[in-house]
Parts: sequence; C-alpha cells; structure tokens
Amino acid sequence: MRSGSHISLAEASRRAPKMLTRGASSELETGASPTFDELTEQLHFALGDGRIWLNDQRMVLMQSTVLGRLRAEIIGAFGTEAAKAMFMRVGYIQGMRDAELIQKRFPQEDLTHALAAGPRVHTLEGFVKVTTKHFEFDLAKGTYFGEFHWHDSSEAGEHLASFGISAEPACWLQTGYPAGYTTKLFGKPVIFREVECTCMGGSRCVIIGKHAEGWEKDAPEREFLGLGWKGIRARSVSDTPEETLNEPVVPERHKDVAVGVSANFLRTRHLLEKVAITEATVLFVGESGVGKELFSRQLHMMSGRSNGPFVAINCAAIPDQLVESELFGVEKGAFTGASVARAGYFERASGGTLFLDEISSLTFAAQGKLLRVLQERQIERVGGGKTVSVDVRVVAASNVDLAAEVSAGRFRQDLYFRLCVFPITIPPLRERRDDISLLMSHFLGIYAARHRRRLKGFTRRATDALLKYDYPGNIRELQNLIERGVVYADDDGLVDVVHMFSGSELLPPFSTTLMQDGKLHQMPLEPSDLSKSHWQASTESISTSFDEIERETYLNAMNLSNGNLSAAARRLQITRPQLQYRLKRLRIGTGHKSS
Ligand SMILES: [Zn+2]
Repeated sequence: MRSGSHISLAEASRRAPKMLTRGASSELETGASPTFDELTEQLHFALGDGRIWLNDQRMVLMQSTVLGRLRAEIIGAFGTEAAKAMFMRVGYIQGMRDAELIQKRFPQEDLTHALAAGPRVHTLEGFVKVTTKHFEFDLAKGTYFGEFHWHDSSEAGEHLASFGISAEPACWLQTGYPAGYTTKLFGKPVIFREVECTCMGGSRCVIIGKHAEGWEKDAPEREFLGLGWKGIRARSVSDTPEETLNEPVVPERHKDVAVGVSANFLRTRHLLEKVAITEATVLFVGESGVGKELFSRQLHMMSGRSNGPFVAINCAAIPDQLVESELFGVEKGAFTGASVARAGYFERASGGTLFLDEISSLTFAAQGKLLRVLQERQIERVGGGKTVSVDVRVVAASNVDLAAEVSAGRFRQDLYFRLCVFPITIPPLRERRDDISLLMSHFLGIYAARHRRRLKGFTRRATDALLKYDYPGNIRELQNLIERGVVYADDDGLVDVVHMFSGSELLPPFSTTLMQDGKLHQMPLEPSDLSKSHWQASTESISTSFDEIERETYLNAMNLSNGNLSAAARRLQITRPQLQYRLKRLRIGTGHKSS
C-alpha cells in the first residue's frame, strides 16, 4: 500500500527528534507518502447515488465556468475587496477541511509529509497544478516559510475570461487554501500571498507563505482571515474562519450518543432538542435498527431528568401474562403467588425516563392500564389495590405504523392519541447516507477500543461497499458489520470487505475506481473473496451460506493440523486468537480448553 515511504527503524529514530520540531521540503524523498495514488484512493464515486466522496467528505463536480460566474456575481454585488475577502475565507475553509482529511486518513505521517500533501490534494481537486519550490518550518520557533508555483490556475482563467488582464493577483480562493491547510496542520496562523499571477500576464502564479508574524502588521490578509486586531469584518459574513474552523463541524460532546451530519439526521436532532427539555411524551417511529433506543437515551440525557434512571424495555420481549406485573410491579401474595412485593419498571424509572420499545405488542388490557398511568400519573401494583404516584417520563417507540394498527383494531385509539403528542420519525440509514462515513469512523473507533485492536481504517473497496450498501438492518447492521470487520482484520491493517460481509448481504456488485489514466473504471469485487451466493444477485435464492464454507475451511485446517490450533491458524494465515474467535462463533468444538 504505502511503498516508497518505508524507512528503516534506525533511520526513523535518527530522524525522529528533528522531525518533531523542524522540517523542510528538501528532506522529503521522491514519491513521499501520501502519494497521488494514495490520495486518489480516497476519492469515491457512488454512481447513481448522487454523491462523490473524498474520504468522508461529500464533494460536488461543478463547471469551473460556473464558479467563475459566481465570482463575477459576487464582485458585482459586493465589490472587489469584499469578494476577495470572501473567497480567501472560503478557500481557507477548503484547505482546513483537506488538512483534516490528511490528519484523519494518514495520522502516522509527520508534519513535513502532511504539509507536502496539501499541494497534491489541491491539484487532485482540479483547481490548479501546484509545484512545491520549497518550504521549511520550525515548530519551536513558530516559523514557517514556503514558496509554491501554480500552473494553469482555474481561478485565474475565470478571472481573465470575465475581466481581462488585471493589475493585481486574482487567485483569491486558491490563496486561501494553503493558508487554511497550513494553519490547521501547523497549529499557528500561516498567511499566504500571491505575488505573481497569470491574470497579470505572466506564465504562472507564485505564492509565498509565512507565519503571521512574518508579515507586516497591517497585512490585509489578517483582516480577510479574521486574524486582524481592527475587528472590522466584511459585511454579511458573521463569523471568521478562526471561529468557525478551529471547531469541528460535529460538536464532539462526549455525551452525544447519536451522531450524524446529514440533513435528515439534523432535522431529527433538532426535533429532539426541542422536545427534550419538556415533559412531553415522545413517540419514536422508524424501521427496525434505526437506533430508536439510542435516540431515546439521547433524549433522556438532554432532558432535565438526566440524573434520574433511564429504563429501557422491549414490550415484545415480555410474555403477555407478565406484562402488567413487569410494568407496574406485584404486591405480596398477588396472583403469581409472589412471596414478596416487587417494583415494576415504572417505579424503577421514577424520576427518570421509561423507554417502551415495540409498544404495539402490548396487550389490549395493558394498553388500557398504560393509558391510565399516563393520564393519572399513578400506578397500581398487580394484586395491590392501592395506588402510588410515579414521576416518570414515558418515551415509546414503534417500528410498525400505529395508525394502521388502530384502524385494524389492534391498538387503542385513545392511547395512540396520548402517545402521539410528539412523534419523531427516525430516518432509515439509506435516507441519511451522508452520515455513513462519519458513522464508519465512529464505530471503528468504538470497536477498535473495545476489542483492543490497532486498525488504520478501511480499504478502498470496503469503503465503497459500505457507502453503497442498502442497509436493510439500518444502523444496527452497519454496527455489526464494522464490529465483525474489527475482529477479523489484522492489527495495523485495514478492514476489508471480506472481514465484514458474510456473503448473505446483497452487496453492491461494482466498485468505481479512479485509474492511472484518470478514467473511472468499474471493478467487480473479487467473487472468490466471498461466497458465490450474492453474485447470483437474488434476495431470495441464496444457496450456500458463507458460514458453511467458512466452517468447512476451518474444519479442514483443523483436521490437517491434527487439531492443533496454532498450526491450523498458521495454515489459514490468521492468528490463533482470530481462529479461536471464529471457531467459537461457528460453534466448532476444538477439544481444547481455550484460555
Ligand atoms: Zn494567480
């Protein structure tokens, strides 16, 4: 994967102290990582899905001339100076985002390599062809200097087309980019200035970057990028890049359990925030596996009851005849012959939130009692006769259409109206696809920590498959896939399709890859990697299960190794614990006591 970037351990330790605080482009070997190939691997075209991804960020393809038109419109509406400031800020944001990509995707790179990747990402994105003349930095002293040359600047081309030869450099968006990129990685403001531009009639653009103090005190870029002291802001822009950008887009509040950035998720989250602080009964509606309990927990945590208990029960899991005693408790000597009194879920959730999942599976009688509790805020233990006040917020969830259940006579209409005060629909994962990549890294982090694994991320085709998969089982399915991948993948490696998908899922059959010649090619995932069954592309006729093939493989290896686990693991080229885990999962006895 990362050929050309490997150095010996001795070399690494010799270089390490210097790398930590100082560096220069001249120290980079040719073909230093991350290479163009490694970067283009982060680009995914989810064909037919309306999305293009650069790692986990959604991109769009737009004609350069349209961007040129936008530029001309903004210059016309706000004047050149305001337009320049706006475009520099936008470019700054773009650079920051790409720096985040490098930090996330290539976390092991030292600062010199990471800084050197910026021009390559900018070039990959099609804005301009960047040549690094030289850069050097000293973290301890806080100094940075860099010189870059640009050829075929798209922005200069558009400026020339609209306004002709100009007296000043005009690549504003593009000059903001290295400022944002370098600032983000360097951790201190770095300002770039274009000193020659093809707009002025030259053959190339030249840009110079220096740490902020390296420029004159009244450098206009300070104003543009919100670094100035004068505090004058360009009109119609409410926050400076510093304010917007040093904070991640997704607030990393650790108490947040439901994560997402998609429009559908944010809409749901907004509803949740509105209702959380109230005492309203909430009904979550959504397909199985969308995370209704997770959202309920989130609601509880954001509510004034967060210090109280959160009790979650699945109504479908309680036998009909026990529903009432489970919910409301039992008085001593009640019909069950109970010798002691026992509190029900309502009493246990006192002061907190009670989450009732699959509410539609409650019996009609239990529905009536629940309604009374919701109205009177009092419960009566089974066989008790005396009532107790309870202070519980009820949150219910259903994966079936309750209104239809009411029409069918299976659900009480009065209870339905009582529950339906504030319904929140949680979208299925396929309707919040923009969240998939975020959830991928979220769950990868969680499961890697839980299973003590060091993993670098996902392979290109694993990412492709996860981004395009339909998730009939929603987030729960994504979660399971990633957990399986984390367990199966090798330490210090990447999670691949074969680690996650068992073959019973209906995978998107093609992966679209950017080839050396710059064209998109559809490459089938190798069928031999998975069971043949899903290549038959039928949801109905899955003939051989992957588990069976897997079982056979392991049994075979065990037989050939005379039941010796370590030998069988070597034969299969996996580790002994991995083999143990898989055997256990497939319920294959080894005759050994696994320790
Ligand atoms: Zn230029």
